[in-house]
Amino acid sequence: MTADPRGAQYTAAEFLALDEEWSTHNYHPLPVVISRAEGAWVTDVDGNRYLDFLSGYSALNFGHRHPALVAAAAEQLGKVTLTSRAFHHDQLGAYCRELAELTGTEMVLPMNSGAEAVESALKVARKWAYRVKGIPDGAAEIVVAGSNFHGRTTTIVSFSTDETARADFGPFTPGFRIVKYGDAESLRAAVTERTAAVLVEPIQGEAGVVVPPAGYLPEVRRICDEAGVLLIADEIQSGLARAGEVLALDHEGVRADLYTLGKALGGGILPVSAVVGRRDVLGVLRPGEHGSTFGGNPLACAVGRAVIRLLATGEFQQRSRELGALLHARLGSLVGRGVAEVRGRGLWAGVDIAPGGPSGRAASEALARRGVLCKETQDSTLRIAPPLVISEVDLERGLDAMTGVLTR
Ligand SMILES: *Cc1c(COP(=O)(O)O)cnc(C)c1O
Repeated sequence: MTADPRGAQYTAAEFLALDEEWSTHNYHPLPVVISRAEGAWVTDVDGNRYLDFLSGYSALNFGHRHPALVAAAAEQLGKVTLTSRAFHHDQLGAYCRELAELTGTEMVLPMNSGAEAVESALKVARKWAYRVKGIPDGAAEIVVAGSNFHGRTTTIVSFSTDETARADFGPFTPGFRIVKYGDAESLRAAVTERTAAVLVEPIQGEAGVVVPPAGYLPEVRRICDEAGVLLIADEIQSGLARAGEVLALDHEGVRADLYTLGKALGGGILPVSAVVGRRDVLGVLRPGEHGSTFGGNPLACAVGRAVIRLLATGEFQQRSRELGALLHARLGSLVGRGVAEVRGRGLWAGVDIAPGGPSGRAASEALARRGVLCKETQDSTLRIAPPLVISEVDLERGLDAMTGVLTR
């Protein structure tokens, strides 16, 4: 039982019924009703505690309610939260400079959701193609990878290969070519003089934490350079310490021309996204051509600056690498014992349940009963992404539960 703001007392079952009746059924959540959270732990309305092994799909890289992030938000709440971009405010310029410096880039386009950042990068790439590269008007193409996940707008689902994400949402936006992820030769074959950009996730999160073959991403960079094509890295899930570096591409020693960032950039407090990259590319946008009422608002910038300060210490990247070694060693030991394959980098893993084992959904439900929250992606893959603040003891505790549920 817990009190709702109007004074009514609801049981967990009643909360589930409320969601069922009043909230659109575009998700299929586990039947856990969370009312409190701190660090790597969440508490449900009945007082049960769970380890969070999902971290809001990596939006909670710094855990729930990180004190430095909550303090930055609270301080800004006491000053100014929204101006619109009709006026300047005292957080935007510093935020953009600090984010550019953190990511080794030259300019920042602030947006809110991840999908908006991807949309913005696509628009910028098209304008760059017409105005700088000289592609005939309306002919620009963008090459993307199969099994991608870049968000949910009509344009973005136009080049999804997931039928569930696409069916019944057409007509779709033209101008995209889909090639096999991890296969540089098929990418090379798809690039023409009309190609504006290649859009790729350095590690495909939604697809099941799929790490491309060694050498693939450097080869993608080479293909883009040879053809004079922009490389856009979608680091919304892979970036900001999740895979052990500020940017997952850093691991490959590869630089993109544009990066999309989101999720953890908002510190788990509010949606904050951005396109960061080359000045001569983002610089094609002129006043009135693109925008967002909430993009770059003072509250978002203040929280984003606090996120950047955390990342600038390097502590979270290091935790991801060190705890990730433990995670991968332990999950790797389950291969052949109920687990078919484990992929990933840093404190981030895709765990394929072996044929004959529980479905991803059933495994997630069994884990929840043992006090660990994670979620299947695809049918038989669990995505494991604990908050980077998790203690080694808690990580081991969650892995013990996974061992209990998955091994046969
Ligand atoms: C989550 C995600 C997005 C979309 O972000 P939203 O904030 O949900 O719109 C885009 N790209 C990648 C790689 C993601 O993981």
